[in-house]
Amino acid sequence: MKTNASFPDPERICRVLTGWYDRHRRDLPWRDTRDPYAIWISEIMLQQTRVETVVPYFLRFLAKFPNCETLAQAPLGEVLKVWENLGYYTRVRNLHKAAGEIVERFGGQIPNRWEEILRLPGIGRYTAGAILSIAFGQGVIAVDGNVRRVISRLFAMEESVDDAATQKRIEEWVATLIPKRDPGRFNQALMELGAVCCTPKTPACPTCPLQEECRARKLGLTHRLPLRGKKKAIPHREVVAAVIRDENGRLLIVQRPVRGLLGSLWKFPGGILDPEELPAEGLARIVRTEMGIEIGVGSFLAAVKHAYTHFRITLTAFSCTLQKGVPAGAPWRWAEPGELEELPFSKADRLIARLVSPTTSH
Ligand code: SF4
Repeated sequence: MKTNASFPDPERICRVLTGWYDRHRRDLPWRDTRDPYAIWISEIMLQQTRVETVVPYFLRFLAKFPNCETLAQAPLGEVLKVWENLGYYTRVRNLHKAAGEIVERFGGQIPNRWEEILRLPGIGRYTAGAILSIAFGQGVIAVDGNVRRVISRLFAMEESVDDAATQKRIEEWVATLIPKRDPGRFNQALMELGAVCCTPKTPACPTCPLQEECRARKLGLTHRLPLRGKKKAIPHREVVAAVIRDENGRLLIVQRPVRGLLGSLWKFPGGILDPEELPAEGLARIVRTEMGIEIGVGSFLAAVKHAYTHFRITLTAFSCTLQKGVPAGAPWRWAEPGELEELPFSKADRLIARLVSPTTSH
């Protein structure tokens, strides 16, 4: 690609962009505050998640856990329940853990030093930059995927934004743009532009405040940028679940290990099939290993599909009977169908619970 176009003027970019942000920014609940706790919660929720989805979760979370102390004191199960269906549960486990550390080491106040905040669980460079610039007014950059896309177009960058060296260059560009006065406003303006105007597939260049400075627009390259590395195929996993009832109609459920994907959420007994394994045989094998019991695998009940960041699953549930043994191993319980709604489940497990248990309220 030939990219002979005049280079954007940093001061003008900053002035035009923040002026546009003041006039056009979306009215979002975390934008009315400089409370570092509220900004932290919003930034964690917004990772991989759409703004419209986050708003009600954010309001509920802040109402229930208004500060680090209340969050740290709440049992993890209660916090997971408020987070249910927002996905990426490592985020909420880290929030809970970090709140405990903030209470213990910083008296409940979120630290305002880069090295200290970055050491807290779940806080990476982007989140640290967002909190420090927005809540504490520090001149720190906050570069996420939206910002990388905007910068790669603005400067018509010819390298893949997936490369570490390109990401470093983008950070350097943003650092040259960030103003001394209200850097948080500038960071938010850049993110907002990426979210509502310089969108991945069809950037709204005719309404963009930076259209005069944008090299990609001048060179007709907006549809080609940002350049990306090759995408890997997303693997698919076959997951099976046993729906086992006792004589009173209660359902056997088991809690996932604290560490790992969907940690501490509840589920039906079961797990991932080996390649080529038949579902009935595989399910009996998995439940034997997981809970030390023998089950009879009966009829098919329901199947749901779900996509995680790095893989997809098909979760198939079978009606099963407990034939031998007493459940052991991971925490487990017999739950009344109505109780299932009170406990935190993943999205796929919740769908199965609702499909197999008509008495469960929706
Ligand atoms: S002019 Fe178009 S490509 Fe350039 S920053 Fe604006 S929206 Fe993005």
